[in-house]
Amino acid sequence: MSDSYDVIVIGAGPAGYAAAIRAAQLGMSTACIDKSLGKDGKPVLGGTCLNWGCIPSKALLDASHKYHDAKENFAAVGVQVEGVRIDVPAMIARKDEVVSGLTGGITGLFKGNGVTHLAGTGKLLADRKVEFTAHDGAVQVLQAGHVILAPGSVPVEIPPTPLTEGYIVDSTGALEFDAVPPRLGIIGAGVIGLELGSVWNRLGSEVVVLEALEEFLPMADERVARDALKTYKKQGLDVRLGCLVTGAEVADGAVNVTYKSGDEQHSITVDKLIVAVGRRPYTQNLLSNDCGVNLDERGFLFVNDLCATDAPGVYAVGDVVRGPMLAHKGTEEGVMVAERIAGFKPLVNYDCIPSVIYTHPEVAWVGKTEQEVKASGDAYNVGQFPFAASGRALAANDTEGFVKIIADAQTDRILGVHVFGPQASELVAQAVISMEFDASAEDLGLTMFAHPTLSEAMHEAALGVAGHAIHMVNRKKK
Ligand code: FAD
Ligand code: AMP
Repeated sequence: MSDSYDVIVIGAGPAGYAAAIRAAQLGMSTACIDKSLGKDGKPVLGGTCLNWGCIPSKALLDASHKYHDAKENFAAVGVQVEGVRIDVPAMIARKDEVVSGLTGGITGLFKGNGVTHLAGTGKLLADRKVEFTAHDGAVQVLQAGHVILAPGSVPVEIPPTPLTEGYIVDSTGALEFDAVPPRLGIIGAGVIGLELGSVWNRLGSEVVVLEALEEFLPMADERVARDALKTYKKQGLDVRLGCLVTGAEVADGAVNVTYKSGDEQHSITVDKLIVAVGRRPYTQNLLSNDCGVNLDERGFLFVNDLCATDAPGVYAVGDVVRGPMLAHKGTEEGVMVAERIAGFKPLVNYDCIPSVIYTHPEVAWVGKTEQEVKASGDAYNVGQFPFAASGRALAANDTEGFVKIIADAQTDRILGVHVFGPQASELVAQAVISMEFDASAEDLGLTMFAHPTLSEAMHEAALGVAGHAIHMVNRKKK
């Protein structure tokens, strides 16, 4: 092992591994240090996203959706199935296979691109030196031309609900249940809580989601949040807003959860409790006192718009820095930093980060919500198109939701796009591309979309901004 590299990356999640691969592609000698160990106790690449986040949760969401669809919706399209049942251990085993295939893929990409994988812990010292402690305890000090910190985040734990093996778990534990819990409690109606709640609700759990805030999905467009809440409740998620969890006690093989709603104390008893109250930046033992990197008041590594820390030659990317904790945001930051180190001048467009909730229907958006645009005081127009009027959605028997496009009234520039509906995660990419290219709603309206597709709902919503959607009666005629 060399003791000096052009670039050393600490953390091999989507932010760190992308930075390492891009740096190596650009001809820099690159090492990536990561300390994660898989279920088999061996080092794994891919960080939270591949091992305990995006990928395993989507594997369970897709599996549980197939089961639920077969059970509840196939008959409506003339497909009769009997004896549909869920095999939870098989579902979890397949999820593990998907994870190991993908984490193994990163190992292959590191090899193919010439990134040195150092399995163990990295700590930043002064002057771009990095202390590397291998899993066997051997310590070596490495010198880097540039350092990229990408240590990610970990679940927030709250004092009232200490994690208790088999009963009170975080999002990682919720991906490993070996049977469907008859009664499931979830603390937090954020993205992770809703996705995990959907998985187990579809498989038969009675799910109660306790959320401290009075408002549901405050970061989403109000109309989308309102309709999504209605749908989730219809699906059986018992979402209780304004409920602050104050305690949890394991007794007689169950969890008694106490919570406050207004001035009243309530309690529920569940078989398992998932704590999904958010994530926090992970910086434990990452920085020496004299390394020159500072934290902000919320514990994130302090960086500028280009992800540079206060220490020359040291950058930080991904969940550990400001901005939404999303894999794609971290990846783009990692690639930007690697390219900037190589002398190129890319930027991350923080105004165009798509957000997705992978429930069914999915929720996805990019740009401003209507309430944000309204608050800015600028005049705007809205075009909205329901999937109930989409031929493809009707053919697929999947008609819930709508596409909503908000455009500036003066310039017609698209300010925000909100999708609640089937394949919203894929549809929103069209909006992201449009906004990246500074498109107007008219540009999108003048674009041809294949028929019949769900994408036509995006087209019709764009036409609707000016009041001339074809497949619905427009309120304002132009
Ligand atoms: P991480 O992925 O957290 O990786 C950091 C890595 O660095 C880890 O392997 C860690 O062990 C290692 N590390 C930390 N400190 C050190 C050190 N000192 N030395 C060596 N190694 C170190 N995001 C999406 O965009 N879409 C989704 O659908 C989605 N679903 C999610 C579902 C769940 C259940 C969860 C929990 C998260 C989900 N996320 C999703 C969020 C996503 O996982 C994170 O935004 C993303 O993983 C952050 O990437 P990162 O590279 O910054 O950090
Ligand atoms: P997110 O940060 O999007 O993952 O969402 C986490 C959610 O958990 C937030 O909406 C918080 O309001 C909620 N939350 C945090 N602590 C509690 C608590 N003690 N009881 C109920 N909800 C909580």
